[in-house]
Amino acid sequence: MNAGELPPLVLLPLAFALGAAVGSFLNVVIHRVPRQLSVVSPPSHCPACDAPIRWWQNVPIVSWLTLRGRCAACGTRISARYLTVELLTGLLAVALARRYGVSFEFVSGFVFAAGLIALTWIDLDHRLLPDRITLPGIVAGLALAPLRSHGAPLDGLSAAALGVLVGGGSLWLVAWLYERMTGREGMGGGDIKLLAMIGAFLGWQGVLLSLFLGSVVGSVIGVGIMIARGADTRLALPFGPFLAIGALTTLLQGEALIAWYVGTLG
Ligand SMILES: [Zn+2]
Repeated sequence: MNAGELPPLVLLPLAFALGAAVGSFLNVVIHRVPRQLSVVSPPSHCPACDAPIRWWQNVPIVSWLTLRGRCAACGTRISARYLTVELLTGLLAVALARRYGVSFEFVSGFVFAAGLIALTWIDLDHRLLPDRITLPGIVAGLALAPLRSHGAPLDGLSAAALGVLVGGGSLWLVAWLYERMTGREGMGGGDIKLLAMIGAFLGWQGVLLSLFLGSVVGSVIGVGIMIARGADTRLALPFGPFLAIGALTTLLQGEALIAWYVGTLG
């Protein structure tokens, strides 16, 4: 038995623990990167009372639950987002481990998913997709391409490079046309770099499918909010989280979706 064939009873809890631990780090990234702070120092401390957070108060998921979402020193509420991000990262690691086993595809998919989770919450908070995440994301997607591809390494790399061009290029073109026609700035440069990063990990078909799925989900939710709040059509939702939903769906189910689509065409 090689490492790629760990029994699910071992593999899936391990994947969940890894995901939850990385999710805990992502919470630090989400808080600090948009504030231009270092993600490694100083060590975690309560933002309200500055009390350092001890290691046993920093166990993913468990600590938040046992402390009931409060700082152990001063009792200030700790946002449920910390728990949400840890749970979500853990569950995505499990889904990726089920799909890919112990493999470079798992590593690549997990790095990608972690980046998307951090970008999603930063975009929700600040309407910002920091270069500090998207640009290394593009590089990571390209660097991991030869390892995760089943074909020749160079084919994997060229597929990823094409994904960057199609992803970044298609959104750049849409943004350029939108601006020419309306005189208003539509999509930001951050969205373009995010889509280039998605292309680096998913290739050109994957990035187009991600853009399509993200636009559909974004439109449905946008229309839902418009109906709920009245006809405020200028309500600008950040696009990054929807692109992330499209990309994660493509990462986990893209081949099935593309096969289904091609099948319905006959
Ligand atoms: Zn405190």
